[in-house]
Amino acid sequence: MDNEATVVNIGPCRCPGAVHEDGDTATFNEHLSTPGGLAALTIRAQHDAGLLDPIEANVRLWSELVRYELKSWTVLNGDGGPVKITPASLEHHTPFSNGGMVLALKASELYGEELSGGRPFPKTTRRSSASGRTRRGKKSTTPTST
Ligand SMILES: [Zn+2]
Repeated sequence: MDNEATVVNIGPCRCPGAVHEDGDTATFNEHLSTPGGLAALTIRAQHDAGLLDPIEANVRLWSELVRYELKSWTVLNGDGGPVKITPASLEHHTPFSNGGMVLALKASELYGEELSGGRPFPKTTRRSSASGRTRRGKKSTTPTST
């Protein structure tokens, strides 16, 4: 049984025959895996050493987390079997505007605190964090509106 909090809708069904009326879903690991955590630490170290700018670091971080932590999805191939989750299939089936952004935001929601101990990571905009908007007792689940 999956923890519902780890399931995210990734948009209209892209399977042959559009068999999922409510759209496709993807399921993340409930807790950050060791490979995912190590990837994140490596990216943070590169960022802290000035080898990655904050944008590059963020792109890599959330891409790696989606790759390591996404454990299943409803996307089917032409034979009706599940499409294997790979960087290529992720890119093909979940472009940014159709699932990709949602996946990155969900990874951020699920693992952000686990990764940073509450510290926003890495900072891309403002420098203030102590008085930021994330420490009000609620989880920040609302994506930045477009
Ligand atoms: Zn589907």
